[in-house]
Amino acid sequence: MERQRSFYNADKVEQLLQPTRFPSSVNRHEVYCGECGETFFLDQVRHEAYLRQYELTQENPFVCQRCDFENDESSYSG
Ligand SMILES: [Zn+2]
Repeated sequence: MERQRSFYNADKVEQLLQPTRFPSSVNRHEVYCGECGETFFLDQVRHEAYLRQYELTQENPFVCQRCDFENDESSYSG
């Protein structure tokens, strides 16, 4: 039982830090995926990093996990 409880806590923290498809108490900053254009929400820290990167490159630096995964896949095949 103890082991299960700590597993769920860890899982919850992990989820809060990830970009989400809908705004949450932590993820309040709306961004668009540069690849698929889907809307995601970032927490304060990630959003600040996103804005800094955006100012540097003038390009949308955010790519959602799914597109990021697909980019990895395609980079292997050439
Ligand atoms: Zn995407």
